[in-house]
Amino acid sequence: MTFSALGLADELVRAVTELGYTDPTPIQTQAIPAILAGQDVMAGAQTGTGKTAGFTLPILQKLLASPIKVKRGEHAPIRALVLTPTRELAAQVEESVQEYGKYAGQKSLAMFGGVSINPQIKALKGRVDILVSTPGRLLDHAQQGTIDLSTIEILVLDEADRMLDMGFIHDIKKVLALLPAQRQNLLFSATYSDEIKQLADNLLNSPVLIEV
Ligand code: AMP
Repeated sequence: MTFSALGLADELVRAVTELGYTDPTPIQTQAIPAILAGQDVMAGAQTGTGKTAGFTLPILQKLLASPIKVKRGEHAPIRALVLTPTRELAAQVEESVQEYGKYAGQKSLAMFGGVSINPQIKALKGRVDILVSTPGRLLDHAQQGTIDLSTIEILVLDEADRMLDMGFIHDIKKVLALLPAQRQNLLFSATYSDEIKQLADNLLNSPVLIEV
């Protein structure tokens, strides 16, 4: 199996080839076609399996394939939201978005707490196609009215089990309430608990289940 055979565009294949990836990992082989097809996904995957590329590559491709024309004076919509449990993971995922999206022309931003909010407010005034954030700081922006989440097309909960372990369920629910009903949802978790299953039941519509 090659990345091209999974349906990925040349812009993305070129970026991963430059990174030295020759073949997709099992999670990528399963997740990429499902996400490209617009399906919700529930994936059981540990760190190190290549899960980040598994959701980042098809998201980049979907956005690339359906560009939005923004009129002069209008603000470009945020199109994909990745929620992560920690600032380190937010920074790391956003770095991967930049690497994999080197030729895809999408703009990304990492946001988390513990740092000044003003540079984030400024960044949100510019174009952000893919936002990677921890839940708390995202809600700070929502409460201050410095972010519009009504345009999100794809939501990813990365390391959802860790988010629940860290007590983010209420924050996650508040974020979900700010998103449009019509969207694609991707849930990644290393472990399955009853709490994760409940979240998946509430969040996902006829999901493709992936276990690696
Ligand atoms: P992740 O599970 O997303 O944290 O990725 C683990 C590591 O695998 C990262 O350092 C990636 O750069 C690397 N990686 C992801 N996909 C591939 C692939 N298809 N081939 C080789 N390395 C990969």
